[in-house]
Amino acid sequence: MTQKTTPEKVVIIGAGPAGLTASYILTQKGISNSLLEKDTVVGGISRTVHYKGFHFDIGGHRFFTKVKPVEAIWHEVLRNDFLLRPRLSRIYYKQKFFYYPLKPVNALLGLGFFNSFLIFLSYLKIRIKPLEKEENLEQWVINRFGKRLYKTFFKTYTEKVWGIPCTEIRAEWAAQRIRGLSLRSALWNAIVKPRGKKIKTLIDEFHYPKKGPGQLWEKVAEKIGEKNNIYFERDVVRIERDGFKILSIKTKTPTGEKTVYAGSHFISSMPLRHLLENMKPKIPDEILQAAQCLKYRDFLTVALIIKKRDIFPDNWIYIHDPSVQVGRIQNFKNWSPFMVPDPEYTCLGLEYFCFEKDGLWNKSDEALIRQGAKELEQIGIVRAEEVIDGSVVRMPKAYPVYDSGYQNHIKTIQDFVDRFENLYPVGRNGMHKYNNQDHAMYTAILAVENMFGAKHNLWEVNTDMEYHEEQKLS
Ligand SMILES: Cc1cc2nc3c(=O)[nH]c(=O)nc-3n(C[C@H](O)[C@H](O)[C@H](O)COP(=O)(O)OP(=O)(O)OC[C@H]3O[C@@H](n4cnc5c(N)ncnc54)[C@H](O)[C@@H]3O)c2cc1C
Repeated sequence: MTQKTTPEKVVIIGAGPAGLTASYILTQKGISNSLLEKDTVVGGISRTVHYKGFHFDIGGHRFFTKVKPVEAIWHEVLRNDFLLRPRLSRIYYKQKFFYYPLKPVNALLGLGFFNSFLIFLSYLKIRIKPLEKEENLEQWVINRFGKRLYKTFFKTYTEKVWGIPCTEIRAEWAAQRIRGLSLRSALWNAIVKPRGKKIKTLIDEFHYPKKGPGQLWEKVAEKIGEKNNIYFERDVVRIERDGFKILSIKTKTPTGEKTVYAGSHFISSMPLRHLLENMKPKIPDEILQAAQCLKYRDFLTVALIIKKRDIFPDNWIYIHDPSVQVGRIQNFKNWSPFMVPDPEYTCLGLEYFCFEKDGLWNKSDEALIRQGAKELEQIGIVRAEEVIDGSVVRMPKAYPVYDSGYQNHIKTIQDFVDRFENLYPVGRNGMHKYNNQDHAMYTAILAVENMFGAKHNLWEVNTDMEYHEEQKLS
């Protein structure tokens, strides 16, 4: 990025956390900007869905960050609506519940003494002779937990989440996500640390807006909307360029109406792959092929309403059990009591990881609600007939996939994209990076600073930053 002039008119693609953050800061600086959003709502993956007075997230969105400017925005916008919430989550496996993070007595009883002994032996074996190669997720986990624990706990759930064998997932993904985790550190945290001075982390409690993450983004949109424009149902279908300069962006509405937006600078949080596929003139074949190799994992939430005050105390439960397809179950009133209209009711969010257009994705909403209710009964949470209503939300491209080839493709793309003088890819899919909200926002903050002459490398966000994230493989 070489341009240093003050931006006159910025066009931003995507009204998720990254795009909204960029627009919010530019608006504060008095820079004219337009935000183009394909959907009808703000928040992207971090939206909150409103259904008959119930509120639910796409997954559950904890707010945690080490990035001060991001934290400042959260507090500035939410003020007293930013709650600090206690956290409880467990793993359901073979009809038993295991605390997560680990509690030794509970784990020992759940796994059985003999099995626990074998797990320990398998861990010792790998400590004495670790696997030499640590290229994929399977090797990474085995080196830290031993083969038996990997097979018992990690394999089924991780493959449920990603839909590909653990051997096809790059080790970097685990390293970025759960750096520093091993059986030794897990036991240390479970046994030794609680006796000493306890530092509160995301593991114990987390921040959460009173009415879900969407509340933050709806408020940000209100503030932007007073001075600048957010255009909904604007699917970006063409990015007009002249060499390494973007000239304009063309959008299409569901009714076929086309509009062109010109600007001096362009920020994009749309999937990197689609950004490059839609460039005109067409980009070189080598770059296009790299872009078309980027893959995504899709996600659907089946929200089920039950007329019952208390169902389980957890914020969420991981369902490692392979006998059901559901991967995680959120209990949104435990995130915030304001997520339900009446405390006598509960709204559970059943999370299914899938590929767009596969069997699960294509099921009707009614069939998914029936399946969800049946699976809840199968794992003993409520009886199927206790589910009185439900709603389904499909979220394409929820996860950028870190498969074996992705790093080379990203490098090729990055070298090409960095040559543009007025284009700034930001966010999660915008950079094909497993970013949480805070890092998605931070890339947007840095992109705006670069427009004013700074020289931040946005690709480095969330690679070498210390991140006290919860250590879990999803
Ligand atoms: C299950 C799950 C749980 C999560 N939990 C947490 C958590 O606990 N804490 C946390 O901080 N983060 C969490 N995240 C991550 C968080 O959702 C993302 O980091 C964040 O939403 C990324 O923001 P973004 O703006 O980069 O992208 P997105 O949220 O994906 O927003 C991009 C926007 O661009 C729009 N768009 C796409 N294509 C086009 C187009 N062609 N034209 C116009 N608009 C377009 C989309 O509609 C969308 O609104 C979770 C994610 C998932 C999937």
